[in-house]
Amino acid sequence: MIPHSTVDVAIIGSGIAGMALADALRRRDVQVAVFGSPERSAVSRGAGLISPVAGLRFGILEKWQQWWDAAIRLYQRYDAVEPIRCLRLLYRDDEVRFWNRKHAALAGEGVAHPTALPAWIAEIVAPAQTSIEITTAARIRAARVLDRLIAQLAATGSFHARTVAGSDIVTREGSVNVCGIECAHVVFCEGAWMAGNALFAWIPPMFARGQRIRGRIEGVCVDDTVWLSIRGRSLVLEPPNLFSYGSSYDWLSVEPAVENASTGHLYEELTAILRARVHIEHVWGGVRPIVADLRPVIGKHPQWSCVWIFNGLGSRGLLLAPFLAEYLANAMVAGSSIPSEWNVERFADRINQCSNADTA
Ligand SMILES: Cc1cc2nc3c(=O)[nH]c(=O)nc-3n(C[C@H](O)[C@H](O)[C@H](O)COP(=O)(O)OP(=O)(O)OC[C@H]3O[C@@H](n4cnc5c(N)ncnc54)[C@H](O)[C@@H]3O)c2cc1C
Repeated sequence: MIPHSTVDVAIIGSGIAGMALADALRRRDVQVAVFGSPERSAVSRGAGLISPVAGLRFGILEKWQQWWDAAIRLYQRYDAVEPIRCLRLLYRDDEVRFWNRKHAALAGEGVAHPTALPAWIAEIVAPAQTSIEITTAARIRAARVLDRLIAQLAATGSFHARTVAGSDIVTREGSVNVCGIECAHVVFCEGAWMAGNALFAWIPPMFARGQRIRGRIEGVCVDDTVWLSIRGRSLVLEPPNLFSYGSSYDWLSVEPAVENASTGHLYEELTAILRARVHIEHVWGGVRPIVADLRPVIGKHPQWSCVWIFNGLGSRGLLLAPFLAEYLANAMVAGSSIPSEWNVERFADRINQCSNADTA
């Protein structure tokens, strides 16, 4: 296909943020051009689990149902969602205390209740004090969603496999030129690669590198696919004896490469939980795009009316991106407002501070 020379919106980044936004805009009849870098990895491709309940303290996302529904709707359209049984195993007294505090609220939301551990799992893992069933959980084939969307866009000449450099962008009042394409708007969905974007250098970053290990467990028989949530880590078991375990947190790191120390740490943790020999067959690492107040960051650049951002998805991008993409698409198409807790404007007073520091 011949690429279009003018489009409504250029999207820079083909991870879950960029692609959920492309999907939301296309459904509003907005013409998009997506730029996805072949050199810069998308951390979304390795992600796969969603649940509204997170963290050691059983935090539940406010109005979780709306986030959940938007996510399931998007992933179902790409045949990329499957339910998964999720069990939390509580080993320490503080975990049990958190559960006791949250128990009533979570039961009221219908998302968690105590349960007996199936015998085959009890045979594999170290004995826990209590086990909790999280009833709302799913596994997402994120790479499938991205690949299908990219294929659809490529078929209409709307996908460009290239890294957009700062010099490829010419910003004017009311329009922007991206790699020679005239656009009414550009949205930066660069994930942790935002670290190199001068237009948004004033957003305070707090990236966290993470790693997962995958392989086989010796001498055990896994009956069913299950997601075990253990001390903030996720252990996915799959027949006949497969596991995937992680993810580690290495705060303030923007280096996506795998680290042996992190792999060793995950291995030790896992062998303590499973009391079995595990063989690591694959290690995967990436950087979570996080900003200082740990909230998503979406909206319009305070100085350039045609420049937007969609970032800060942290450790839950697969759950957050679909709902936020709808919000952002409505703001771009219909001018609807973006709540202050996600709005990029909350950092606007740092623009001058940062440019003063640059010139000092
Ligand atoms: C180990 C690990 C496990 C995780 N597991 C889960 C999980 O189970 N569930 C969950 O919900 N979340 C999980 N996350 C978090 C999740 O991966 C992120 O929240 C989410 O993927 C961020 O999506 P994104 O689109 O913002 O960034 P990315 O997926 O990193 O996408 C950024 C995209 O921008 C492109 N890009 C960047 N700069 C440019 C440029 N200048 N020009 C062109 N293209 C550019 C890159 O190539 C990439 O395609 C995990 C994270 C890690 C590290």
